[in-house]
Amino acid sequence: ASGQKEAAAAVPMAWWWAGQASGRAVARALHTFGGYGVSLEYDIQLYYRRAKAWSLLAGDSQRELIAVGNRLWGGVTCPLPECGEITLDFSLGQQADKMAQEVRAFFEANLTADLRAKAHHSVAGYDAAFSQKLCAAGLRYPHWPLEYGGRGATPFEMAALNAVFEEYGWERITGPVTNQVAFSLMGFAQDEVKQQILGEFARGEALACLGFSEPASGSDIYAAKTRAVRDGDDWIINGQKIFTTSGNLANYIYLLTRTNPDVAKHKGLTIFMVPMNLPGIEIQPVHTLQDERTNITYLENVRVPDKYRLGEVDGGLQVMLHTMEMEHGGADQYRLNYQSMLDNTIAWASTTHRNGSAIIEEPETRMRLAPVAVKHAVARVLCYRSLWASHYKVPGRSHFGPVSKLFATESYLQDSRDMMDLAAPWSLFEDRHGAGHIELGYRQSIGTTIYGGTSEIMRSLIAEHGLGLPKSRS
Ligand SMILES: Cc1cc2nc3c(=O)[nH]c(=O)nc-3n(C[C@H](O)[C@H](O)[C@H](O)COP(=O)(O)OP(=O)(O)OC[C@H]3O[C@@H](n4cnc5c(N)ncnc54)[C@H](O)[C@@H]3O)c2cc1C
Repeated sequence: ASGQKEAAAAVPMAWWWAGQASGRAVARALHTFGGYGVSLEYDIQLYYRRAKAWSLLAGDSQRELIAVGNRLWGGVTCPLPECGEITLDFSLGQQADKMAQEVRAFFEANLTADLRAKAHHSVAGYDAAFSQKLCAAGLRYPHWPLEYGGRGATPFEMAALNAVFEEYGWERITGPVTNQVAFSLMGFAQDEVKQQILGEFARGEALACLGFSEPASGSDIYAAKTRAVRDGDDWIINGQKIFTTSGNLANYIYLLTRTNPDVAKHKGLTIFMVPMNLPGIEIQPVHTLQDERTNITYLENVRVPDKYRLGEVDGGLQVMLHTMEMEHGGADQYRLNYQSMLDNTIAWASTTHRNGSAIIEEPETRMRLAPVAVKHAVARVLCYRSLWASHYKVPGRSHFGPVSKLFATESYLQDSRDMMDLAAPWSLFEDRHGAGHIELGYRQSIGTTIYGGTSEIMRSLIAEHGLGLPKSRS
């Protein structure tokens, strides 16, 4: 690894991070013991001292950040010992690299100047014809099993595919959402509807949106009030969904409804795949801080044939658990935004000059960028661990997704604030280039800590599933 800047930087990165993380973890652990935590009778105080002292054995650990900056951006090399056989692979693997090459070749061949100009991180960047081409090339839903026309691509390959979409600034919302819904259809839809809708998705003729959140139930998702009442072979649905992203483009809404109000809230839910062109559905736009349109969806006396029901009547919880697990397993999607902000900040600092030299030459700049590079590297490892657990179906893994989402999005939020400061005053301007990406990161990062489950909900999932603590929510 000698001569490779990432390998040389990884040593001070790991040293600095270990000191930071262990110090914080032990301080929080001690705190939970209250007064006993500081009593010499209990061992926690020893851990508190050790976590700090060990990180200082080589001197002030903050100085490691100087080495990180110099090795990553200053061309400083250092000899590294022969590390022998490496049994851990920190990359996504060769198959995933091949997928990335294929997607990149596709973008190069098909992304016209007009499409490049249209590219946008939100659903405004969706282009039906381009999506149909992706479908025809097997690159829209390669994750699907062979029997449904997919390629059985692994989570690693999907992560590589998404990273290339991000490279080209292409939206990563309509595909992943429709993909998530497609897997629920495969597992729970009635045959006729399954074949029909999956066929439409596979040909790029239809999209789905998620209709979970309501004005009074976002985090408390199973408190949904949208009512579905049986009427012969149909259901009559009344209610309101909020934040139905891509609802303005979608052909189907994956709808969480209440079919039984007289039982515990999570026992009276049923899921429907409702065609958006049915009478009684109205969409109103909601515009967000991050240059994105989402929607409110009103449903008034919408008559839905029973064939569009997924799973059992009042069995919506089981279907939802399947869907939510996919959502939490997709934390790498959030990390990609964070990576873009970091890459763009480095590019900005390398190409923008102050007092006669590139800003990245300044030691203070490197000191500010280095912790972001470290935290992003940690986020990537956590996300890859989550992909690995999902690929190999490792038991007891259900908290890995929430851990990755929480860490990646909270770090993105915190670091976007700091990068705004670093790049000021350039970062004050909205722009699709240079420091404009930092400004966008600042506006985008806060939303990532909310949608897909807020940070507080992630923490309670980690506490319940990872630490075995009692449920904090009803
Ligand atoms: C841009 C965007 C796109 C979205 N897209 C979709 C979509 O396509 N489909 C869809 O169905 N939804 C979508 N959502 C909704 C999203 O899932 C919810 O906003 C999110 O789950 C939070 O719900 P809420 O907004 O009702 O906030 P609330 O649940 O009211 O939360 C408010 C605050 O209280 C905290 N809180 C709530 N409950 C607890 C608890 N038990 N313990 C501790 N703290 C708690 C939250 O963490 C938060 O800080 C989207 C949201 C946004 C912003």
